[in-house]
Amino acid sequence: MEIIALAGGIGGARFLRGLLGHLGNRDDEWSTATVTVIGNTADDITLFGLRVCPDLDTIMYTLGGGIHEAQGWGRDGETFSVSTELAAYEVPPDWFTLGDRDIATHIVRTQMLRAGWSLTDVTAALCSRWQPGIRLLPMSDDPIETHVVVLDDAGAREALHFQEWWVREQARRPAQEFVFLGAAEAKPTPAVLDAVREADVVLLPPSNPIVSIGAILQVAGIGDALRSASAPVVGVSPIIGGAPVRGMADACLAAIGVETSASGVAGHYGARIAGGLLDGWLVAEEDASTSAPAGVFQRSRPLLMTTEEDAAAIAGATLDLAVELRR
Ligand code: GDP
Ligand code: CA
Repeated sequence: MEIIALAGGIGGARFLRGLLGHLGNRDDEWSTATVTVIGNTADDITLFGLRVCPDLDTIMYTLGGGIHEAQGWGRDGETFSVSTELAAYEVPPDWFTLGDRDIATHIVRTQMLRAGWSLTDVTAALCSRWQPGIRLLPMSDDPIETHVVVLDDAGAREALHFQEWWVREQARRPAQEFVFLGAAEAKPTPAVLDAVREADVVLLPPSNPIVSIGAILQVAGIGDALRSASAPVVGVSPIIGGAPVRGMADACLAAIGVETSASGVAGHYGARIAGGLLDGWLVAEEDASTSAPAGVFQRSRPLLMTTEEDAAAIAGATLDLAVELRR
């Protein structure tokens, strides 16, 4: 059986770790399922000449056992000698944390990209060290960058790289618009399109619906391939009781007029029978009385991923729902 999942960083990675745990405990045909992850690369940024892919790395480190567990991103046991030295030279930027161990990953990636490897092949090479237990595919080998339009003090529109808005400004200025630079011209990779075609189940983890999963759907061809896939598509709400669990996803939803609620996100994805994406939708128990669009089968479960067991139970519930929808 082939499972594919679209994923951003923290929410995606925790869900995927649960999914692998869940599959390992099954004794049916799903116990040997392969998991292919289509990772968001629109948060990627070049810093100090190094190509940084935060979402791919969060997944790779989380599933490979190298994540800073409490933080949810970056390496465990990290040191910051390089950053300290750069600061002593007063070389900006100083707002994006790059630890020494993490920098090694970015050096390897940048070196391989410069030598002509595709991001897909570079990611596979990095994963040969981390053995994440999934196949990690960047959504595209072409550069795509999320830019955020905000207003400056004079009320003029100004576009920032997503990381400048999210990390440096902590999303303080309301986003007017998200622009996925390069997405319309970018090509999905053959590996991504093959994975969608061969999938038995498509899962949408509780990743940010706008800048993580939304960015992946912007790549020309991926959204269409998913909407017409034969596999059922089941999503997990990243919003519990009207608030994002971690992070500032509400700042992204508000920008494009989507209510910060489980049903707001479901409505944004839309029902597959109406040209949207979802066949099934998992909401938190406190959101059980909210409604998904007509044609989307909704179920409620505890959706807080505090422990790996919690995440495994959530992943199991998505798979059970998908299996029912396949019949
Ligand atoms: P990022 O790229 O690191 O921001 O991570 P993602 O896009 O993968 O995930 C961010 C989303 O995960 C946020 O919208 C959170 O609301 C959601 N999230 C984080 N932890 C949990 C959790 O325990 N349960 C649920 N349901 N959603 C979560
Ligand atoms: Ca991200």
